[in-house]
Amino acid sequence: MALLVTDAPRFTAGDAARLAEQLFGVRGRAEVLPSERDQNFLVWANQEVRPTGVLKIANAGEQREVLEYQNEVIRRLAERCPELRFPRIPGEIARVQSGGAAYFARLLSWVPGECLANIAPHSDEVLSSLGRALGQIDRALDGFSHPAAHRDLHWDIRHAGLARTHLHLLPDARRRIVEAGFAAWERIDWQALRSGVIHGDANDYNVLVENGRVVSILDFGDSVHTAIVCDLAIAIAYVMLGKSDPIAAARCVVEAYLAEYPLTPAEVDGLFTLAIARLCLSVCYSAHHANTAPQNEYLGVTDAPAWALLEQLEEFPADWPRDVFRRACSRRQSNLPAGRAQHLGPSLSLSYQRPLHITRGWRQRLFSADGRGYLDCVNNVTHVGHCHPRVLEAAAAQARELNTNTRYLHENLVEYLERLTAMLPPPLSMVYLVCSGSEANELALRLARAHTGRDQVIVVDAAYHGNSNALIDLSPYKFNGPGGRGKPAHVHVVPQPDVYRGTDYAGTVRAAARQADGLAAFFCESALSCAGQIILPPGYLREAFAGVREAGGVCVADEVQTGFGRAGSHFWMFETQGVVPDIVTLGKPIGNGHPMGAVITTPEIAASFANGMEYFNTFGGNPVSCAVGLAVLDVIRDEGLQENARTTGEYLLAGLKDLAGRHAIVGDARGQGLFVGIELVRDRETKEPAGQEATAIVEAMKDRGVLLSTDGPFHNVIKIKPPMVFSRADADGVVGGLEKVLR
Ligand code: PMP
Repeated sequence: MALLVTDAPRFTAGDAARLAEQLFGVRGRAEVLPSERDQNFLVWANQEVRPTGVLKIANAGEQREVLEYQNEVIRRLAERCPELRFPRIPGEIARVQSGGAAYFARLLSWVPGECLANIAPHSDEVLSSLGRALGQIDRALDGFSHPAAHRDLHWDIRHAGLARTHLHLLPDARRRIVEAGFAAWERIDWQALRSGVIHGDANDYNVLVENGRVVSILDFGDSVHTAIVCDLAIAIAYVMLGKSDPIAAARCVVEAYLAEYPLTPAEVDGLFTLAIARLCLSVCYSAHHANTAPQNEYLGVTDAPAWALLEQLEEFPADWPRDVFRRACSRRQSNLPAGRAQHLGPSLSLSYQRPLHITRGWRQRLFSADGRGYLDCVNNVTHVGHCHPRVLEAAAAQARELNTNTRYLHENLVEYLERLTAMLPPPLSMVYLVCSGSEANELALRLARAHTGRDQVIVVDAAYHGNSNALIDLSPYKFNGPGGRGKPAHVHVVPQPDVYRGTDYAGTVRAAARQADGLAAFFCESALSCAGQIILPPGYLREAFAGVREAGGVCVADEVQTGFGRAGSHFWMFETQGVVPDIVTLGKPIGNGHPMGAVITTPEIAASFANGMEYFNTFGGNPVSCAVGLAVLDVIRDEGLQENARTTGEYLLAGLKDLAGRHAIVGDARGQGLFVGIELVRDRETKEPAGQEATAIVEAMKDRGVLLSTDGPFHNVIKIKPPMVFSRADADGVVGGLEKVLR
């Protein structure tokens, strides 16, 4: 199976015009078209504006039967696909001589239409029509056979392995990607795939479009008897090129194809692997041709976009495309919004005007059922990245062995307590393990009350500390919000220390502490999240804590959102304020999505709490949770995520500040590490909040594949607190996207 590039005929346009007249009676002129191993000429009859036909001169090695076979395929499709256009074949196959060699020549009538390659962007409609057209072709070819179809073609994905001989031509990083593609190809069970004759080359130079709809798929030079699903695999391999959402584009084609020509489950499952194998063999042959036929530019047209795609696909969970295609072939479409509304208590809204159906997560990205990928800029729970393999493996391995409560001795518990407390300054050394941020704050409140023997609490305006009865009472965000019952008597609210809006600072805490009649605690996030991504002014907590302690209260740092290295410069956000709290509460990132929380306090406060009543928590501190917690700490350390939060956070903030300099609506850009926000205002003088605008921007960014959300009392702060594997390229994507949306 030689690559027949060197056997390509070498006729000139003048020769072609002469042959067209001599052999087929078309008198006029000819113009050369690109081809891999044959020669094709567009032929115009005299005086005609449109071409009359295409003169095809096959390479010297081509057999007459193969050309007869191709002609038969064309005739069959012309007959059986009434919605599509195929060439007529006016004359016989002729034999022509040149330079001592003989070649076969044919004339096919010209088919009008624009190449899909020249159309941008590819709308869902055009992609669906491609799927429909190819499905109709494969349906029409079902049952067709011809002896010449059983030929060995190096572009046939069944023979993709042959391209491996060129692997050594690729640089290391790229070779690794292609080797993985071939390894997956090797696992294909060809017996499970139906065989038949296929078109074999539905690349976008062979697809013709008119009025936004595919009207023809031409060039039967690669038509072959192989696994039928390869036809669709080849089409989607090319469709994915140059797309920001390649899998969504492929899904459009697949869904429409399946409506015309159903595939078996095994074929659907193999589809993506076959498409990747096609790209892998294509880049291998490009590398080979770059060495042997550098003058033929047509041979390399796919190379750069194919590499870009193969590298882009590296960011996706490997088997997610298969899930998307499976869903595309499932006729059973469930109505998730209705199902949810019917049985889920109605107090929880969905994000976005058109809610997302997310089916996969990987690192800093989420993937939806319809094949789109999203950069997740808001999930600070999946701290070390969605579905981190080390965390998953730790959970699974321990779950296979044992999961039980903490009334038995276990290494995981002790090791986790040691590792966690080692991250905290003394005297914070006593830990209670719980299952959520709410549980942590709820217990912190009990500890503070037990220790002080008092009840009252100071909280910061617009704060949220959790969903229990006691914590709703400590959350102005809730008790002053819709459905709230206002501030309870035992709670004192101080204004949020908002540097941008110039509201009062720490003195208000001292004043509230003096005023309180029996102060138990001051609850404060170490950087304010729900209140609008506010970074505390320097010295705020030092002064506030002093005022609280003077009044006999304890200081609780709610690090549920901000802990575990997000601050970048420090492991805990409170450290940026140079203070040591009496109680620290942890949640969200602690288990990377596994339900965990923790309260850490001083031996003195822990002793006050040990009044005889046991504190039992069924799930808190179980061996699986501790294994997960340990894995999270390991990953943060081993992957340098705190340092990444520092450098990438600084880079992101610089980009956002730059944006603020150019767009008046961005009143403020602020942040610490990967805890960042921009505040939108209608007027920089009055700082009138631009809440609706913020919501519209969040929606527009979602359509661009970036997930953000709003916060703050006026919902005008866009928050950015992504998984800590967030990269500079991601930061560029966010800033660049905002730039476009703001324009
Ligand atoms: N504290 C803060 C600062 C929070 O943001 C949250 C949750 N948003 C909680 C506590 C409560 O945590 P959970 O939802 O895990 O109960």
